Amino acid sequence: MADAATESSWCEISVPKIAGNLLSTLKRMPDNTQLCAVVKSDAYGHGIENVVPLLMEQNIGCIGISSNAEARAVRSAGFAGRLLRLRTATPQEVKSAIGDRIEEMFGAPAAVRSLIETLGQEALPKLHISLNAGGMSRDGLELSTARGRAGFFEMLELVPDQIVGLCTHFPSNEPVELAESIQRFHDDQAWIFTNCDLRRQDVLVHAGSTLTLHSGQDPKADMMRCGAILYGIAGPRPDFQSALALKSRVVSIGEYPKGSTIGYDRSCCLSEDKVLASIALGYANGYSRRFSDGGEVLIRGQRLPVMGKISMNTIVADVTSLPAIDVGDEVVAFGQQGSQVISSVAIEDLTGTIMADLYADWGQRNARVVIQP
Ligand SMILES: *Cc1c(COP(=O)(O)O)cnc(C)c1O
Repeated sequence: MADAATESSWCEISVPKIAGNLLSTLKRMPDNTQLCAVVKSDAYGHGIENVVPLLMEQNIGCIGISSNAEARAVRSAGFAGRLLRLRTATPQEVKSAIGDRIEEMFGAPAAVRSLIETLGQEALPKLHISLNAGGMSRDGLELSTARGRAGFFEMLELVPDQIVGLCTHFPSNEPVELAESIQRFHDDQAWIFTNCDLRRQDVLVHAGSTLTLHSGQDPKADMMRCGAILYGIAGPRPDFQSALALKSRVVSIGEYPKGSTIGYDRSCCLSEDKVLASIALGYANGYSRRFSDGGEVLIRGQRLPVMGKISMNTIVADVTSLPAIDVGDEVVAFGQQGSQVISSVAIEDLTGTIMADLYADWGQRNARVVIQP
């Protein structure tokens, strides 16, 4: 783990906040619904090794991942329970992760056929059939067409003993659309349990994510798969809190006269004399060029404007209003300092994307400094 004292840009990860978010999530789960805790993209940038022990403490039975590397990280952290891949994998990918006992998700008979060709019938992992009930049209099987229904029977015939789950993913949690998707998923299940040998009690039915949980609508599944909420993305304060802060340090301070231009393309020109601080953060750390107009940082508890274009490894802030500043001062680009906060709303407005996108990016591009309880 990195040490904040020697880093010049880092993600500060709060384990207690993730633990709090997890407890608040468990309290909100509908009756008789388990949580599949999603840790894809290295736990949305927070580090799988920081999250898995919390999940084990709460006896979470299922963890959702995407890549084989993530599956290995979850196993290395000591989790022996159910590991679910949240997308279809290639046969080669499945084959190289057999030892990690991943349950795989499939929605196309052709993909199941090539899986059998590569692995042989004996080595097949447990499988979940993914349905396109909500209309993601990503990798789910579409049961509204005769072809899709024939495909379902074909999959059952190919892997009669491997199917342990039925699932779907909702593309929209807008109330009317979500209600429609839930109904569609129930209709699909009714058709399945009426028309084939698969029995309801033999499969785990799962659907829904963070926004479904927030919607208050209950998909009446055995399990919901939630990621974002664990990391404080969406969810009312104070029950849910951001567990990641993006931080950096002042590396240089200079006085520049009126008329000086700042950064590439001279996009910013000083209308008066200023004190400017150079900060060791840039687009290589995921502090995107979209912060070029309107970005703000916190230094010594004060909110300060970012000036000029974002460089690869450096940004410049106007620190003229600060009574004192030193090289090495901590800079908050996202998160809290004193009574000030750079909020998710501000960041999402400025960047035009969602926090999950940014967390996944920041978490990979910066050292992580972990706050333990
Ligand atoms: C990422 C993912 C989830 C979790 O979504 P959140 O919005 O982060 O809760 C659930 N299911 C699938 C299939 C996913 O890919």
